Amino acid sequence: MKTWVFSTESDGAAAPSALEALSKAREFGGELGAILVGAGSDTALAQLGAHGAATVLHGPQTASSAVIAAGIAQAVAAEQPDLLIFGMGTLDRDVAGRLSARLGKPVLANAVDITVGDGTLRVANEILGGSTLVVTESAGGSPAIVITRPKVFAAEPADGGAPAVTALEAPDVGHADALEVLSQHAETSEGPDLEAAAIVVSGGRGMGDADRFAVLNELAGLLGGAVGATRAVVDAGWVPYSLQVGQTGKTVKPDLYIACGISGAMQHLVGMKDSTTIVAINKDSEAPIFGISDLGIIGDVHTVVPALVEALKNRG
Ligand SMILES: Cc1cc2nc3c(=O)[nH]c(=O)nc-3n(C[C@H](O)[C@H](O)[C@H](O)COP(=O)(O)OP(=O)(O)OC[C@H]3O[C@@H](n4cnc5c(N)ncnc54)[C@H](O)[C@@H]3O)c2cc1C
Repeated sequence: MKTWVFSTESDGAAAPSALEALSKAREFGGELGAILVGAGSDTALAQLGAHGAATVLHGPQTASSAVIAAGIAQAVAAEQPDLLIFGMGTLDRDVAGRLSARLGKPVLANAVDITVGDGTLRVANEILGGSTLVVTESAGGSPAIVITRPKVFAAEPADGGAPAVTALEAPDVGHADALEVLSQHAETSEGPDLEAAAIVVSGGRGMGDADRFAVLNELAGLLGGAVGATRAVVDAGWVPYSLQVGQTGKTVKPDLYIACGISGAMQHLVGMKDSTTIVAINKDSEAPIFGISDLGIIGDVHTVVPALVEALKNRG
């Protein structure tokens, strides 16, 4: 089994999704490598090596997805990997799609598990809000192209040393490369990163409006957590998209998730249902969010949340 894992680089670090996938892929045995698109910092390379990548194909940050996909396709023809694993990042998905077209292979997306047995690769993904698991066997021949959901595998370093680095080819792709990235913008926020936070306080339409949503910042601040939101709230313009949790937002897996005025639509649940402890506050006792909650508070968020804030302040 020869597996390659795709990684972008951010602030000199490898993508968490790549470290998660490498940790999982060590189970498959055989050769393990990574494709790194970015500056190629010592830290990023060391992380990939520590998580099991013996080799790294390095492509520059400035390369377009068309060129990266063409470079990977050339490397695939030469090295014949069996499995290519991508994360859910924008570049990951763009490159995976282009590679699928170049190689004539399907993409198995939204994977929550990958298993290899009797020479067959099987990919599991969840549908209907995680209530049904679909297992797909890859019958398209090598390499299988898989996109995994964030945080479904734990990133655990092994004893891997520094990987052998070679440059990813940059083939001429003609007009497919006729685009220029003029600038990149990283959204900044105070407090812990939403995807990494141990506590997430999320708000939904039940918070009423943007001003009243602000009390959640106070609650999250007191708990040392991050604020999240539903798509309804993001669509209403109360908070930026970077706070959206769910199918088309971020996937979080904190120790504690507090859902305030959130109904529990399946598209929201897929982004937070694996939280260790879920507390929901909703005035409707029939709200679906209570179906996956460890603790449910049937009440008005405008009463319960300020009372929680007060109690935490009094605790000192
Ligand atoms: C393709 C697609 C992708 C989507 N992706 C996402 C996604 O990534 N993330 C996401 O969140 N959604 C997503 N959605 C939208 C999703 O289907 C729901 O519409 C959305 O999650 C609902 O948000 P909400 O719970 O804030 O609002 P509502 O469903 O309107 O729920 C509001 C809740 O607040 C309660 N409430 C009202 N007032 C109070 C009060 N004073 N005190 C206590 N409770 C109160 C109500 O009882 C209700 O349960 C997607 C939809 C589609 C079609």
